[in-house]
Amino acid sequence: MLKPEQIQERFDLIGGSDLYDLFNLGNYGCARKLWYEKKNKYIPEMTPAMERGFLLEDIVRRKFSEEHGDEYDVIEVDDKTFIKDEHIGGHIDGLLTDKKTGKQGVLEIKIPNLYSFKIYQKEGVPEHYTLQVQYYMWLTNSDFAVLVVFNADKWDYFTIKYNRDDELIEDIKEVVYDFINNYIIGADEPAGVYDARCNKCPFNHECASGLKFEKEKTEEEKKQEELLGEKLTELEKLLIEYSEVKSALVVLQEKEKELKTKIDEITPVDSKIVLPQGQVVKSLTHRVSLDTKKIEKELPDVYEKYKKEKEYTTLRIYLRE
Ligand code: SF4
Repeated sequence: MLKPEQIQERFDLIGGSDLYDLFNLGNYGCARKLWYEKKNKYIPEMTPAMERGFLLEDIVRRKFSEEHGDEYDVIEVDDKTFIKDEHIGGHIDGLLTDKKTGKQGVLEIKIPNLYSFKIYQKEGVPEHYTLQVQYYMWLTNSDFAVLVVFNADKWDYFTIKYNRDDELIEDIKEVVYDFINNYIIGADEPAGVYDARCNKCPFNHECASGLKFEKEKTEEEKKQEELLGEKLTELEKLLIEYSEVKSALVVLQEKEKELKTKIDEITPVDSKIVLPQGQVVKSLTHRVSLDTKKIEKELPDVYEKYKKEKEYTTLRIYLRE
């Protein structure tokens, strides 16, 4: 969870995550939105997905540290905010030392949902992640960065190593200083994008007079509308709710796993402990199961005789970040 001083820094500083809006990347926001945020000292509401990210960050850092301990020292930095000047700074997830070269690096952790995780694995991570790690390398004077992309459903991650790219850093600095000089210090206003991004922007009324913008529909979207009609909006709402519940569940399941391991460690085998809060029973269990695939292959007659068939539908839900 962000501490009050970190929230204050978000008001005052252009941080790494601000580059997403500053460069007009992605489906939400624009440089003008960032300007409104700084001007109005706006803090977005904490969503379950954000909370999950904050809670899991420390676990992911420890996991990475344990599994990559032969390559890197993960340095715990108490105050993780690196300030360049009164307008520029960033909150980093950790510092690294390459054990072979002794060079310093930055650790950046991202915790997308399963849907985005799979896309990132297949198609690469979003462009603003690259900008963000280069920005942090500049702030911390580091030579490299390791991006850890973790998914809680799979309990797995992949990493991408970046070398410092001074040319790209210069380009980022130019845009950042331009924004600061013209819109933070200066009295100019950045241009807005005025497209479908505005529909979900918290400054829509102030900036775009509450206008709703039509998004160019893809063929797939048109087909879906034909199929579901008005129920499409209902499904959209249900998916948002489902996604929030699922995010909260992941955190709770992780906590449950941790508590079960601790209970298991202190409970002897073949015992039943009865306490006012409940009882703990630990026993050695022997289970027999049948390999149905093997039976089907080696004893097809038996399989045919005893198999039971029933019809059912399956529902798979893949969530977007
Ligand atoms: S309403 Fe649109 S143009 Fe205005 S700040 Fe928001 S996203 Fe940018």
